[in-house]
Amino acid sequence: MPASGRRDARFPVVDPATGETFDEAPDQRADELDAVIDRAGRAWPGWRADPAARTTALRAAADAVEAAGDDLARLLTREQGKPLAESHAEVARTAARLRYFADLPPGTRRITDGRPVHSEIRWRSLGPVAAIVPWNFPLQLAAAKFAPALAAGNTVVLKPSPFTPLATRLLGSVLATALPEDVLTVVTGREPLGARLASHPGIRHVTFTGSVPTGRAVAGAAAASLARVTLELGGNDAAVLLDDVEVDRIADRLFWAAFRNCGQVCMAVKRVYAPARLHAEVVEALAQRAKTVPVGPGLDPDTRLGPVNNAPQLTRVEQVTRQALADGARAAAGGHRLDGPGYFFAPTILTDVPPGSPVVTEEQFGPVLPVLPYRSVDEAVEAANGTAFGLGGSVWGTDLDRAEAVADRLECGTAWINHHAELSLAQPFAGAKHSGVGVAGGPWGLYGNLRPFVVHRPREDDEVGRR
Ligand code: NAD
Repeated sequence: MPASGRRDARFPVVDPATGETFDEAPDQRADELDAVIDRAGRAWPGWRADPAARTTALRAAADAVEAAGDDLARLLTREQGKPLAESHAEVARTAARLRYFADLPPGTRRITDGRPVHSEIRWRSLGPVAAIVPWNFPLQLAAAKFAPALAAGNTVVLKPSPFTPLATRLLGSVLATALPEDVLTVVTGREPLGARLASHPGIRHVTFTGSVPTGRAVAGAAAASLARVTLELGGNDAAVLLDDVEVDRIADRLFWAAFRNCGQVCMAVKRVYAPARLHAEVVEALAQRAKTVPVGPGLDPDTRLGPVNNAPQLTRVEQVTRQALADGARAAAGGHRLDGPGYFFAPTILTDVPPGSPVVTEEQFGPVLPVLPYRSVDEAVEAANGTAFGLGGSVWGTDLDRAEAVADRLECGTAWINHHAELSLAQPFAGAKHSGVGVAGGPWGLYGNLRPFVVHRPREDDEVGRR
């Protein structure tokens, strides 16, 4: 029990493969959060002062993450549900992100525009950064926030989702072996912890990944202290198949673009538009894969598709599927929960879906995919662009120039050709429309955690400057 005599509150963490509580995590109070943010503020001057020391520490942090890879991956699978191989891949990407940003120091730039002054842009860090992340990729998405924030010289307070707090807590302990004290602190708890963090006057940048409604709440909360806000929000990505597509050749890649991580990927393919002539063939190819993919607990080495992460999300997936079936859709595969314990939903391919059904217009975020026919490319592009989301999109076909011309018409942040959701660490990542505010990834992610500080100085021959 703490010195105050108060017993620490805790909340349960459920294994989605069984539906049973298997551990718990601290439910941190407002005064604990205040103390963490205060310490992050005091750690900032030391951390921002020495870029070379930061590079060394972040490289060491990447090594420490890799060394703890087995423990991190197992815990991640246990609380998130994804197959163990995918957890290992997530840990590897977490380390890779740290390494990428460790070696990306901000440059100083001198501007000379013919006037008798020169201006120098020096980049300054912001202060304590709040990083708030969802449950679908707890480690990787956390690293996408803390790696650039730390590399820029900020300190970080990281809050995972209460559905997946444990691997992030372990990650925090692993990082603590390489980073100075209080430079990165993990806080866990149920709401209103996130709201408190987003509105805290000690925070200078709130970098958030999650749903559109919560993103709105975070932007509103951060307005109180005028902290900078970066929002990476939901998506409803369309894949547009052109009439020269070879269905057999793309079916595997398209299936996994929709179903990886049980469809719980912000930039998963969430709608497929197929030419009417090929529609039945596309439905059949995807349904055949959905019916045969091994579904099971993530720790089982044969599993390719795990459970949905949590009970509310399972209910949501079930509701949009039922609504689509009630609207007249037909399940070419799946369409229902799986019997037995855990949050398993049968991989589902829907056809004959009315375009206005929520499974098309909203984000299903689960193992359910509608396949819609179209008659002209203009019609497909209009439908693809016809939601408030604008995260990603893809175009699939044999003629790459034609596919690229169609991809260029998609209103989104990233458009792929014959791929989906492949990202380089060096590229900017930004959603259009309601899918985001600000830019993450690559140098843009680093500069999103910095402010320009400009020094104007007269040239050497200035009449006032020299004696
Ligand atoms: P969510 O918005 O419910 O929660 C995200 C985080 O915000 C969690 O840590 C949660 O505890 C916290 N939170 C909840 N209420 C809050 C509040 N009032 N103030 C501050 N924080 C609060 O999202 P989720 O269900 O955890 O994740 C799924 C969503 O995330 C999907 O919409 C998905 O598309 C999106 N997502 C986007 C990206 C991207 O890069 N664009 C990546 C992954 C997931």
